[in-house]
Amino acid sequence: MAWLGSLRAAAVAVLAAATMMPVSAPAETLAKNLFGHKALPAVMPAKSYGFYSKGCFGGGVAIATDGPHWQAMRLSRNRRWGHPAMIALIERLSRDAARDGWPGLLVGDISQPRGGPMLTGHASHQIGLDADIWLTPMPDRKLSPSERENMSAVSMLKGDSLYVDDRKWTPAHTALIRHAANYRDVERIFVHPGIKKKLCDTVSGDRRWLNKVRPFWGHHYHFHIRIGCPPGSTGCKPQQGTGSGDGCDKSLDWWFTDEPWKPAKGPAKPKARDVMTMKSLPRECQAVLDAPAPQNEAVVTVTGPGALPVAAADTPSVSASGYAPTPAVGIPVPFPAPAR
Ligand SMILES: [Zn+2]
Repeated sequence: MAWLGSLRAAAVAVLAAATMMPVSAPAETLAKNLFGHKALPAVMPAKSYGFYSKGCFGGGVAIATDGPHWQAMRLSRNRRWGHPAMIALIERLSRDAARDGWPGLLVGDISQPRGGPMLTGHASHQIGLDADIWLTPMPDRKLSPSERENMSAVSMLKGDSLYVDDRKWTPAHTALIRHAANYRDVERIFVHPGIKKKLCDTVSGDRRWLNKVRPFWGHHYHFHIRIGCPPGSTGCKPQQGTGSGDGCDKSLDWWFTDEPWKPAKGPAKPKARDVMTMKSLPRECQAVLDAPAPQNEAVVTVTGPGALPVAAADTPSVSASGYAPTPAVGIPVPFPAPAR
């Protein structure tokens, strides 16, 4: 039955052609599916690999759902994870802000346990060095899990405008962002252009910190803190510098033209996170995916100052670069705020 044999051969050929076709990667090999389903971090030295929008990290730790001066939101997303330096900075900001009278931080998305592209949302937040903090102060009671899922943040803008609503924006908001911007490790803070304008129009005295506050789409419900590549993360790709000005110039004026808000022309391109495979990520990200998980979440969770998780991998001490020497395990403890 030669015809059957040739039919079979033809079918095999068609199948082979189909698998060789440069169609989009099968769902199971998309990096977002691999990283998006990891429940716990990779037990390995704390290091970020790649770039903010294309990478991963090992040795992640979580910020506790509740701390002395914070509550984490949207717990079901499991995005309370970051490089130990990022988590330590959020904890420190919560204390510094509380001293100023900010009632506490509502912590939004940081990263997935091992970073990487996400199933939904953010393009960045992939290497454990980005964190969203709500511009809504923490209520003076413990929020229930369902409130943390459903409570909506408050936009700082006046209606549909590009400008801040003066009934919502307070000097305490400015102080909170100033605190974050003044940390040496913080390289950028993303806010809505309307918020940047508000700061440009109202901040007096030292304005150098405004340099780090960058206008961006969204970010009127929360602000976004980005720290630089931590010491020891040699595989982390630094971002471009922010220059020297306060950014209250033509580059800000552009945001108040039609151009940034016009719908994009042409067919919509797929989002990078929806096509990224392991091949697009740094080589080390495969090892991050394959690394063992800690026993449980509690051993890699930061609950407060000095509350070092005991099972975080042997993070090297980085005293030369601004962190106090640490025990062989645990998170680096930052020094007090550097002089402005
Ligand atoms: Zn953000």
